[in-house]
Amino acid sequence: MEEVNKMYLNIFFTFHNAVFESYISENEINNAVSAVANKINEQYKEQDVVFIAVLNGSFMFCADLLKKINLKCEVSFVKMKSYEGTETTGKINELIGLSEDLRGKAVILVEDIVDTGNTLERLSEILISKGVKSAQIATLLYKPEAYKKKIPIDYVGIEIPNEFVLGYGLDYDGLGRNLSKIYKLKHH
Ligand code: 5GP
Repeated sequence: MEEVNKMYLNIFFTFHNAVFESYISENEINNAVSAVANKINEQYKEQDVVFIAVLNGSFMFCADLLKKINLKCEVSFVKMKSYEGTETTGKINELIGLSEDLRGKAVILVEDIVDTGNTLERLSEILISKGVKSAQIATLLYKPEAYKKKIPIDYVGIEIPNEFVLGYGLDYDGLGRNLSKIYKLKHH
């Protein structure tokens, strides 16, 4: 019985009454992270890089990715903070936690998932305004069907359809970030 329960837990998770099923294994994640790291190592040979991870979701991907990067690099963590501005400015996204001077630096943004691309677009605008030499994007997951922007996504770990996923840094209402696999919302 205990074995059955364990197996069941391995496949399904219930958070806040939503059921999630096993979707991407640790092995697949690991292979995708290695592939992204290899491409970056190849592309940035002899160049210094600043990795900027966008919290909270990207903490696990960033840690695993950086262990496979063999370049001279700095790592920094930022967070997007959204708040309501005035009537004319509407919703404002501000970047918090960036203390480094990025002028003239080659930057790689590290994202957990790119969905519509809104976050990404705002982040790259902010980086450009900081005078970076170049800005590339590395994301573990990418939903091509949902993406609405023109900015190229340079390094993609795994393309997924328009599903809601959690685990490996990604949450559902605060829960599930610690899971080492990725789960998707089960449709009824
Ligand atoms: P975008 O701005 O590209 O629409 O969305 C980016 C952010 O939305 C991600 O950093 C993530 O926080 C959240 N997000 C988008 N899709 C998912 C998903 O399937 N699962 C989870 N947990 N978060 C998502």
